[in-house]
Amino acid sequence: MGRIALLIVDMLNDFLDPAGALYCGDDSRRIIPVVRELLETHRAQDSVIIFVSDHHASDDREFLLFPPHCVQGTPGAATIPEIEVRSGDHHIYKNRYSAFYGTDLDEILRRESVDEVHLAGVCTSICVMETTSDLRNRDIRAIVHRGAVADFDPKAHDFALERMEKILGAEIED
Ligand SMILES: [Zn+2]
Repeated sequence: MGRIALLIVDMLNDFLDPAGALYCGDDSRRIIPVVRELLETHRAQDSVIIFVSDHHASDDREFLLFPPHCVQGTPGAATIPEIEVRSGDHHIYKNRYSAFYGTDLDEILRRESVDEVHLAGVCTSICVMETTSDLRNRDIRAIVHRGAVADFDPKAHDFALERMEKILGAEIED
């Protein structure tokens, strides 16, 4: 049997701080204690902990779609102070929605013999769903924690949870 990984997506100042460049709203702040608790639970059961952080060059073409955010080297690109990143954790940087695109996530999951990935973070309908889709493409079991994901758009949040469950085969856990 393989190991379990907890993937914490984009719990970064620019998304979670009300003064951040692309604040995801009060729903995103409400998940902070849930994500912290999930992190503690997974640390206690020796899961593989993987932080995935949005990370852009200052002229990234994503800024044609969204206001500039998570520019490398800025405080906005850092993990929020409520979440503790430890030295043994994996930390990968992405500049597209999926945590797999242009990163060594495949290699980390293979090396750690992971066959089940739990997801938490923002945004439900963007980076969480795109990453869940890529887990489906790899036949890796995905578990999305309903109370540990959030989106600036509540309709998109609901749609994404339903689509991840029905179309991408993820388990949605309360
Ligand atoms: Zn981005």
